[in-house]
Amino acid sequence: MKKPILTARKAGLIACSVCHLLCPAAPREHGVRASKCPRCGATLHSRKPDSIARTWALVIAACIFYIPANVLPMTTVTSLGMVQSDTIMSGVIYFVQSGSWPIALIIFIASIFVPLLKLFILCYLLISVQRKSHFRPKDRTRLYLITEAVGRWSMLDIFVVTILVALVNLGALATIQAGPAALHFAAVVVITMIAAMSFDPRLIWDAKEKMHE
Ligand SMILES: [Zn+2]
Repeated sequence: MKKPILTARKAGLIACSVCHLLCPAAPREHGVRASKCPRCGATLHSRKPDSIARTWALVIAACIFYIPANVLPMTTVTSLGMVQSDTIMSGVIYFVQSGSWPIALIIFIASIFVPLLKLFILCYLLISVQRKSHFRPKDRTRLYLITEAVGRWSMLDIFVVTILVALVNLGALATIQAGPAALHFAAVVVITMIAAMSFDPRLIWDAKEKMHE
């Protein structure tokens, strides 16, 4: 027989999400707990409020933005009167064909693979939490930490486009303009980062806690 685990919630305590002070949970008033941390004044929540619904909404929004981010042109190059528009994928193909496969690989990983992977991981975590799955909670927590850690690296593509637009401006000879995909891509990255933040990883362990009761 495993010993029952003691959690803050079982002990009637809530950890402040800002200063991490353990505070006694206030009794429910009209079904809502509305207590504040005595030390820093932040509102106390045992779990992030509406975490699953909010994360789903943000993940779906990011999926919608992912389509124009990949279909619309990312850059428009005007060189000696010739106009050429490139999407993320056509840019990757261009670099592979011109032999610069390390650059192609970086763009592919940062702009296509990582954002998709993050959305898949978040969907998987949400579904597994909703199904109250007991499957490898430690590894699922690790997956969550990965999505939080790689978030900022997806901005690489936007960073490169911004630098190109700022640097290559030779007037009539050549200019590079950011295409409409850049804005949609930035939206995908930012929304996915907020989605990862609004997901509460403690939900992964709640199913396990219920099992021990
Ligand atoms: Zn506090």
